[in-house]
Order: sequence, then structure tokens, then C-alpha cells
Amino acid sequence: MLNLETAKKKYADLTIKKGLNLECGQPLVITSSIENADFVRILAKSAYEIGAKEVHVNWNDGELTKMKYKYSPMEVFENFPKWYADAMETYAKDGAAFLSIVSSDPELLKDADTKKIAANNKSSSTVMKNFRKYTMNNINTWCVIAAAGKDWAKSLFSDLEDEKAITELWTAIFKATRTDLDDPEFAWDSHIENLSHKVDFLNSKSFRKLVYKTGKGTDLEVSLPKGHIWSGGGDHNSKNRFFIANIPTEEVFTLPEKNGVNGVVFGTKPLFYSGNMIDEFSFVFKDGKIIDFDAATGKDVLYNLLEIDEGARYLGEVALVPYDSPISNTGLLFKNTLFDENASCHFAIGKAYPTSIKNGENMTDEELEARGVNDSLTHVDFMVGDKDMTITGIDEDGNTTIIFKNGNWAI
Ligand code: ZN
Ligand code: ZN
Repeated sequence: MLNLETAKKKYADLTIKKGLNLECGQPLVITSSIENADFVRILAKSAYEIGAKEVHVNWNDGELTKMKYKYSPMEVFENFPKWYADAMETYAKDGAAFLSIVSSDPELLKDADTKKIAANNKSSSTVMKNFRKYTMNNINTWCVIAAAGKDWAKSLFSDLEDEKAITELWTAIFKATRTDLDDPEFAWDSHIENLSHKVDFLNSKSFRKLVYKTGKGTDLEVSLPKGHIWSGGGDHNSKNRFFIANIPTEEVFTLPEKNGVNGVVFGTKPLFYSGNMIDEFSFVFKDGKIIDFDAATGKDVLYNLLEIDEGARYLGEVALVPYDSPISNTGLLFKNTLFDENASCHFAIGKAYPTSIKNGENMTDEELEARGVNDSLTHVDFMVGDKDMTITGIDEDGNTTIIFKNGNWAI
């Protein structure tokens, strides 16, 4: 039986040492709900133990967020505070590492005004655009992990009492992140190594196109731009220091050619976005653009996402994840993208990582656009993997390679 407190310290050490690979003397900025205060203290201890210069925490609270959506006027959501972005940029320039902890109720904002949510998403992404360059271009190290928030736990295990539900969710988090193994840090080294074999194979092939098919009706052609780079597992920051941006991560990913996506794709897991659920959705693409879409649940939320800007109608990420993974094998829909995207092949709507194309981190916005790299204020992953999914790669000369068969790696 897993001891919760021991496992939390193991997860904290894994996050600080492998996820962020924190350096002695480096500041650490954590963003977390106040309900994870105990776990944040454990993380801070792990960070100070290896010499962190300072641990700064941006606290938030789900109940206060709900109140704000209920009582504050629209102008508050249209004017995301610049001081917050300035503070984050100041830390970024000082070489800080950034850690986000996700733990909130997947449907926190289901009763909130969707116009306020859309306004907040737009103004926060606009004001935070400069700061996001530090993380999206891997200039600074960053990592996203999870903690078992009460409302999140209750939404997954509604029959259990609060404490039991929270324990159950922590246990699932520890399984999905390999924290339950004797030596999680060693397990992550081998896992990263396995992912790098897939990455090397895909990079050696330089496919020009991927073709996706499922019984549900997905029939999609995705062109990959010349010079695209597959990555997976970890990245290097601008000081060439290795880090793992998501714990867990099971994906191998690159970017699509902005105007080179055609066909139809069906979502296979509900998407929890901005505290709302979008379910049973599909997209129709023509020359990269989403020209039609549908959703049985959350269609207006999805519409607002696609309306953020022009780039929100195009794809920015192509990610391959086998149907069988430690996360899928928990048999749990986590209702959280950090986990659910790592249990399913997915795409992302919106901005592509400039590091997914050769020399992209040194290109101007115009150069990236010319190379078919999508830009947007948003980046939202959505899941399309299925147990009968086939993905075929087609190279420059028209040779085909089956990459995925029956939902799993075929290479
Ligand atoms: Zn992804
Ligand atoms: Zn993504």
C-alpha cells in the first residue's frame, strides 16, 4: 500500500530534479491553488534542498474565481492585469523555472458567463504573449504537474467521501506519473530513452504527410512542413539544460503545415477547457482551416475558442500517443488535459511550438508564418486517438509506412 506522504515527496523530488532539473541558485515560480498548500511546501522544500534561490508562489482559489465570474463586470475580464505579466517576465529574465500545478474542478466555470470566459482567455493570452515566449520557445525551463484537488477528485469519484476520493485521485496520479515505482527517477530515464527512439525514427523518415483513419469516421490528411522536428519526453532550455515540460508525458509531437490539413476528425474524449466540458465534437478541415465543427456538449464554448483569433481555426500540434499507456491503463478519464492528452493521439488548435521546426526559435513571426508555422493566442490540445486508429506516413517519394495500427505504435 502506497504511503501518501512518502509518495508526495517522491513526486516533488521527481518534479524538481527531473521535470524542472532545477539548478542551484535558480529562482522557482509556482502557480497553484491554495488547497495544495501542503504539497507546495513539500515542493518548495525539495527545491531549497538543491539550492533554489527563491520559491515564489502565485496562489489562486477556485471559490474566489467563481465569485469573480459571478460579481465582477465584463471590463475586469477584458483587462487582464499587466502587472502580473510584468512580474512573470521579471522572473523569466532572472532565469527562473516555472511550475504550474493543475488541480481544479474540471467544470469549475460551467455556470459562468461564457462571454466573460472568452474575454478573459483573450485578454490574458494577449497580455501574457511576451511572457509565453520564454516557455513556448524553451528559453526557460517549465513544467506542468497535477495535485488532487477536492472538487476534481469528487467529479471522478462521486460515490466516495471527500478524503477517500482525494486519496484515490492521488493514487491515480502516482500511477500515471510512475511515482508508484521504486525508483521513479530511473523509470523516467528509461521512459525518455524509449520516446527518443520513436523520435529518431520519425525524424529519419521526414514524412511529408500523415493519413489518419478510424471506424468512427476520422479521415484526415495532415501535411508536415519541410524541416519539421519530432520531439518527445524532454527539451533543452536556452542554456542547453534538459527538462521535462509535462509530468506525465507519453507523447511524441511535431507541427502540421498550417494550410495542409484536409478532411474530418472526430474527438474521442471529452475536452475540459476553461472550466467547461466540450464533448462528442468533430471538425472539418479545408486547406488547414476549420470550416465546420460540431459538438453535442459545449458547442458555444468551442465556438468562442475558435473565435479567439485567425490562428485558432488552424492546427499547431500533431501528437502521437499509443492507446496502451500507463495513463490509459488506469482506465480513468481524468477530465484533465495533462492526463487525457497523454492517453490519446491528439492535435492542438492554435499556436505551434516554434521549436518544432528547424531553427524556428530564431525566426521572426513573419518567417515562421512563411514556413507554415501557425500562430495564435491560444493552444488547446484535443484527443482523437481510438483503439482502431491507423496512421500512415507518406514520404517525399510517395513511399508509405504504417506508423500506428489498432491504436498503437506499429514501428
Ligand atoms: Zn500535446
Ligand atoms: Zn499541446
